[in-house]
Amino acid sequence: MADLKLSETRDLTRIERIGAHSHIRGLGLDSALEPRAVSEGMVGQTSARKAAGVILQMIKEGRIAGRAVLIAGQPGTGKTAIAMGMAKSLGLETPFAMISASEIFSLEMSKTEALMQSFRKAIGVRIKEETEVIEGEVVEVQIDRPAVAGAALKTGKLTMKTTEMEGVYDLGAKMIESLGKEKVQSGDVIAIDKPSGKVTKLGRSFSRSRDYDAIGPQVRFVQCPDGELQKRKEIVHCVTLHEIDVINSRTQGFLALFTGDTGEIRAEGVLFIDEVHMLDIECFSFLNRALENEMAPIVVVATNRGITTIRGTNYKSPHGIPIDLLDRLLIITTQPYTKDDIGKILDIRCQEEDVEMAEEAKALLTHIGVETSLRYAIHLITAAALACQKRKGKVVENEDITRVYNLFLDVKRSTQYLMEYQEQYMFSEASIGDGDED
Ligand code: ATP
Repeated sequence: MADLKLSETRDLTRIERIGAHSHIRGLGLDSALEPRAVSEGMVGQTSARKAAGVILQMIKEGRIAGRAVLIAGQPGTGKTAIAMGMAKSLGLETPFAMISASEIFSLEMSKTEALMQSFRKAIGVRIKEETEVIEGEVVEVQIDRPAVAGAALKTGKLTMKTTEMEGVYDLGAKMIESLGKEKVQSGDVIAIDKPSGKVTKLGRSFSRSRDYDAIGPQVRFVQCPDGELQKRKEIVHCVTLHEIDVINSRTQGFLALFTGDTGEIRAEGVLFIDEVHMLDIECFSFLNRALENEMAPIVVVATNRGITTIRGTNYKSPHGIPIDLLDRLLIITTQPYTKDDIGKILDIRCQEEDVEMAEEAKALLTHIGVETSLRYAIHLITAAALACQKRKGKVVENEDITRVYNLFLDVKRSTQYLMEYQEQYMFSEASIGDGDED
């Protein structure tokens, strides 16, 4: 039953969903930080990508603590894509927290508390741990059930002899897990990390006595020379302050996770706040202050708003961000895409979604992207592929694109439709020319 559950879980985790930015694998820059035309899923937007690359370099060199960057540009011009590219290039070691400004407004905690939590998710701490590793040669393996050579050990005891100590170790779950499919046999030199129970096979000694193939419930191998001495090994854990908070809130506290001496080194991290114009004046003032803290991560914010009201005030300001905060930001702007760029992005998305599309259909979809929006055109890819599947076709053709174009409205046509039929809707007060000002 337990086995069944395990395999079910494994199968489920294998399902990978295709997200809006799943094709982005980096910023697509060369070693001199020059953007390649099409690389790592990124197309065009060269000056913004280059600027993002320079910031990455500064982050890696640890030079811009407490700085913040604003990516500003029209909707669908790749602001979030660039932030994703930055996250991917930084690698897993650097914490990268991503939130949308509206997430701050939760009922469970105050706005500033929620912001603080996001900050702590982006501050990395490296904790060095010195652990004792015993290295030695296996002299005896006892297995509580018959086993064949090559089979993974199930349970049992592992007897080890070193010049300093001799002991019998229970092959607990951890050891078995870390040994994986490898089998331990007499004459193997292994290292056991005491706190974690991790067993690493280091090699074979020359004086291998008998073969492990001798099978039985209690196999004993005794003769062997003394193994190596105890060694000390350094392990570095990378956690964020938020993770420490979570662990701390548990009964045993954070240090319960580690043994031995611990030391802390701060690692640079990045906090990305999308739709930053959704923050209000209190949050902006918190941000201003928080950025002055020497522990502050690099804050990257993005917005598609022009001059608009700062939430919580009656004042207007560029991007809805107070001037004093704006003054602290390094500003990167994204530009609208050319037809060529849109075509290339759609091409990449077709590959990502595993959709085969005829050249003519691609040209039509690119044209739709230019006339409506890149996002709308991206959405039509899957829909058109389904239409193609329905007519039992293999390659998406013009007819599939036309079909879904007529089935799903873009913003322009949807607005026009509303204008024509507004009387038939409830509470409609719109007059032509209303924008999305809130
Ligand atoms: P908004 O202001 O509405 O939040 P945005 O500027 O954040 O928009 P994205 O969400 O990044 O826009 O872009 C829309 C879609 O186009 C996404 O699927 C994104 O991955 C893709 N995209 C945008 N720019 C590029 C690019 N330069 N290269 C490849 N894909 C891109």
